[in-house]
Amino acid sequence: MSLLRLYFNRSLRKCVACRYLATQFAHGPNADKGEDVRDLRNIGIIAHIDAGKTTTTERMLYYSGFTKHLGDVDHGDTVTDYLEEERNRGITISSAAVTYQWKKHRVNLIDTPGHVDFTIEVERSLRVLDGAVTILDASAGVEAQTVTVWKQATKHDIPSIIYLNKLDKLGVSVELCLESIRQKLHIDPFLINFPYGESLQKFKGLVDIVDMVKYEWDLAKSTDGRKFSVIPLTEKEDGKFWEYAVKERTNLIGRLSDTDEKIADEVLLETSMDKIKPELVRKALRNATVKRQLTPVMCGSSLKNKGVQLLMDAIYDYLPCPNDREFPFLQYYGSELCAFAFKTIHNQQKMPQTFFRIYSGSLHQRSDVHNINRNCHEKVKTLSRILANEYHNISAAHPGDIVCVSGLKETRTGDTITSKEGLAKIKPILREHRHHEDEVDLHDDSHDDDLNHDVVLAGLQVPSPVFFCSVEPPSMAYQKDLDLALECLQREDPSLKVEVNQETGQTILSGMGELHLEVVKHRLLSEYKIDVYMGPLQIAYKETIDDPVTHTETLDSVIGGKKQHVTVAMTVQPSEQQSGKKVISYKPHTNEKTFITSPRFRKEYKSAMENGIKTALSYGPILNFPVINVEVVLHSVELSRDTSPNVAAAAASMCLHNALKKAILHLMEPIMKLEIITDPDFSSVVLHDLASRRTKIEHVHQNPKDNTKVIQATVPLAELREYSNSIRKITHGQSSLNMEFSHYEEMSEEDKNKAIEKVTGFPVNPAIFNPPSA
Ligand code: GDP
Ligand code: MG
Repeated sequence: MSLLRLYFNRSLRKCVACRYLATQFAHGPNADKGEDVRDLRNIGIIAHIDAGKTTTTERMLYYSGFTKHLGDVDHGDTVTDYLEEERNRGITISSAAVTYQWKKHRVNLIDTPGHVDFTIEVERSLRVLDGAVTILDASAGVEAQTVTVWKQATKHDIPSIIYLNKLDKLGVSVELCLESIRQKLHIDPFLINFPYGESLQKFKGLVDIVDMVKYEWDLAKSTDGRKFSVIPLTEKEDGKFWEYAVKERTNLIGRLSDTDEKIADEVLLETSMDKIKPELVRKALRNATVKRQLTPVMCGSSLKNKGVQLLMDAIYDYLPCPNDREFPFLQYYGSELCAFAFKTIHNQQKMPQTFFRIYSGSLHQRSDVHNINRNCHEKVKTLSRILANEYHNISAAHPGDIVCVSGLKETRTGDTITSKEGLAKIKPILREHRHHEDEVDLHDDSHDDDLNHDVVLAGLQVPSPVFFCSVEPPSMAYQKDLDLALECLQREDPSLKVEVNQETGQTILSGMGELHLEVVKHRLLSEYKIDVYMGPLQIAYKETIDDPVTHTETLDSVIGGKKQHVTVAMTVQPSEQQSGKKVISYKPHTNEKTFITSPRFRKEYKSAMENGIKTALSYGPILNFPVINVEVVLHSVELSRDTSPNVAAAAASMCLHNALKKAILHLMEPIMKLEIITDPDFSSVVLHDLASRRTKIEHVHQNPKDNTKVIQATVPLAELREYSNSIRKITHGQSSLNMEFSHYEEMSEEDKNKAIEKVTGFPVNPAIFNPPSA
């Protein structure tokens, strides 16, 4: 007999008004009062682009009752891809935080983008989530971006369920998928449900080995897949499927009994593994998943509306609740507020909305909070939960919650906030890690480098931008609007950098890739109505030196009738750390009378010197690119009585700039890591093409399962303009490509000269750039 389960209360979804009620039911003031944190899940969906993250999210929202029709990425009407830019492109750009209620529990779900230009989006969601659903396109197995994101999730200790999507596609093999999980993610996956039917393309439903039932979708009766039957699996009716299920259940229980005593006891008592109660198996499987001892794998086809409800059940059954995770910094806050800002967006009025994860204490509407990173007070206006782009106000948020806060003016992504009482609690240990007085790191401008990281969550690591271009408003009348718009965009996206070139006055945007900057251009038009002109994309080179150079500079000037005199002596040398950091230290020459150590070398002058040095390092002598991997040692500073700090800064800057000009300079270029998977017939064409691009081939191998060739290489970014188009052309579309930034590398003399010629338009006169050492 088949049990028909309705997964949704029909009376609540008949009209828009009812939808509002349904929403109130989940988001209303009662929802956050007596809610049990064990019923809460903070989940991220991660995967390679096109695996079906957005499609699956849409199904989840639909089945939980928050949307009335099934969104479709191919028609551009999904809820989570609500930015116009995302709808046009059919990909997810900025994570949308979505809350839905499924059965008894609430799920905060973050849809994250799969494109490598937006990895910072993935990184910031992983910081605040407790569990993940990793979606694979079952016809492609584990793809390159999935490996990248999986590594990120592992770094944050996030347990995951793997969902094999697109089982309806031709040529799919569940076995091959499991094999690629083993090989590429280095884990031992466990299939907890599997498809049954005549063939995969016509699979009717899924067999669940925990409950020993089959779920059957009759799409002729219920096209949206909302209704389905749950039928107990029997030996008589299901033959080989029953046999396989019993075998797999036995395997699973065997695996679980290694780590779970209760199940181990049960195994000794029971003769047949299919008799062990589902509840017991589920509990043990949950423990093993939360501890990342085992990764459950599930099957489905989101587009064809099969399997998503089981995935929604599994999120509750197997992924951790906030209490299941441990955060060492919480010991300092006790019951006081500790919340981490992981995302900022701007609403229609361009007011910032900051997304927080609450770790301890409560956050209330209209309350005062303290931003630890920026050391300032802020006022919370409203708190809300979000259904894609709809906001639902709540009065308070509690541990484990993910909420959106309006009214904060200073807070940025990566900051930690607390209450007044919380601040008093952590104050004694907050700034224990102050820098040594005489060493300044000029590289880090995150403002929190002197904070004790036991107490705050470290800010986000923003990768270094590799592309830049100039941006101009359509007319000067738009300049102010453009500045404002760029400020908003930069606040939302820490990987976008906006600078004004001191010499030309041009605004320069730097970002992670061609797509990244293109999206900025489109967003400026669609959201801020500014049709900007963007200059050609250029590579963000860096400059560095080989050997130490010492230089002394004297600056004399008369300002307002007062004579000002400065003499500075310093050494610039390759830094030992090679970390890209720029460090200034103070080391007087022996026997030299110096102001550095005297009280007259006041803080004011010290910071002026530092600013001068910072300026000189921000544009190197070759092509005005930042100078990296160097340190500066300041030996002496002589100041006449009336010298102003500005003149001191100018002297320091001049001294360093002239020192760098004396040095042997190198240009460094960004190198990308490339993985190309191609039909073997085209592999020699691809390799031949790569050979003309200054490529280092790291590894070439044949995938024994599907015979594709996998080529791994490192290639200078300068050689990869429009590469995705060109590889598509030469392989007739029979290839896939994944690229990510790897590192900066010194260029050969010849390549350096070519790059200089390309940037300046003039051939290189070697004497200008590499003078004989003076
Ligand atoms: P995302 O980039 O991971 O968000 O993927 P999308 O949800 O945007 O889906 C990418 C493409 O795959 C779209 O054309 C979807 O219609 C399609 N797709 C998603 N799920 C399935 C599925 O279960 N079966 C098939 N055949 N196609 C799917
Ligand atoms: Mg998407």
